[in-house]
Amino acid sequence: MIYLDNAATTPVSQQVLDAMIPWYRECYGNPSSHYSIGYEAKAAIDKARQQVADALHCLPVEVYFTGCGTESDNWAIKGTALRMAQQGKKHLITSAIEHHAVLHSMKALEKQGFEVTYLPVDEKGFVRPADLEAAIRPDTGLVSIMAANNEIGTIEPVAELGRIARAHKVLFHTDAVQAVGHIPVDVEAWNVDLLSLSAHKFRGPKGVGALYVKKPLRLPALIQGGGQEKGRRSGTENVPGAVGMAAALREAVDGLSRESPRLAALRDRLIDGLTGLPYTRLTGDPVNRLPGTASFVFEGVEGEALLLHLDARGICASSGSACSSASLDPSHVLLAIGLPHAIAHGSLRLSLGAENTEADVDYILKEVPQVVAYLRELSPVWDRDAQKPTWEL
Ligand code: PLP
Repeated sequence: MIYLDNAATTPVSQQVLDAMIPWYRECYGNPSSHYSIGYEAKAAIDKARQQVADALHCLPVEVYFTGCGTESDNWAIKGTALRMAQQGKKHLITSAIEHHAVLHSMKALEKQGFEVTYLPVDEKGFVRPADLEAAIRPDTGLVSIMAANNEIGTIEPVAELGRIARAHKVLFHTDAVQAVGHIPVDVEAWNVDLLSLSAHKFRGPKGVGALYVKKPLRLPALIQGGGQEKGRRSGTENVPGAVGMAAALREAVDGLSRESPRLAALRDRLIDGLTGLPYTRLTGDPVNRLPGTASFVFEGVEGEALLLHLDARGICASSGSACSSASLDPSHVLLAIGLPHAIAHGSLRLSLGAENTEADVDYILKEVPQVVAYLRELSPVWDRDAQKPTWEL
């Protein structure tokens, strides 16, 4: 099997697993308990928080553990909205290409009377800073723009967007779920007040994430209970999860200067090889993109069929985002960058990770062109004589 869906999730690294196991079997105490294995668990959480803070360039008190990236996004947005309601503010700004964790949180707020501006993006997927500047109103309370897009890999100009929000005294949240562990992240340099991350995207375990909340900001709690996480996110701490996330983040950050150019070279081989096929284009920006993400559209090909045929050849990949792949609608991201519906249906995302090699790329460059050619031969929208789509766009 060749796994090329690391933007959906990653295998836990051996080192991370080894770091987690003792916290399940030996030191399984509750961090709130008053005996030695409880104190040890509490110390492990504190250490993990410090390690996450070091990776983000913030203070440990600014890191709150959560259950996943989705929870972090929901908390950042809905928690800020609760604060905004007390201040008489009702406007939020986001982009059209956010993950559904952000977009659906915004939609839920709209139902409660908040107003949301969805900034458009250009054909590479970039939010234009001038659009953000123009959208800010006196009653704007939050800007939420992702650091890097999960489908097309475009890296947004977060520092500049954060600078604009800060100049207008508006809180700035970034969904950095695809960025953390993959590109350098610095909450100070990025001018962010809130940042979401998720362990399973960088070889940590599933079911643990974190939200950075810049001091002295305090977000209202969405989950009440025993008062864990400084009373802001109750629930017995996921000690092995937090330890695993911190270990994975350290491993990723320590290896970034080596791994990032290696992945980018593999990615660029995929891009060069596959964009050589007729009626095939890269989606997203060729330069400012995540090192491991190569994304394409093939005209005259149905993305779902492509995935099934690749699966039969042992290749795990994705078309659009994993979360929306159950739906037959084309991806909102591909529509937002201006692709017509017909073309957006033929998307493929190949996302590389630590375990991928040159041989994997060789295999993809052999198999994908064969499958694309085969599907086009069967396609009602492919002109077999002219070897082009039946449409003129
Ligand atoms: N935000 C982005 C950009 C993502 O890619 C994902 C997962 O695909 C999420 C949020 C949700 O993270 P989680 O799976 O940890 O809930």
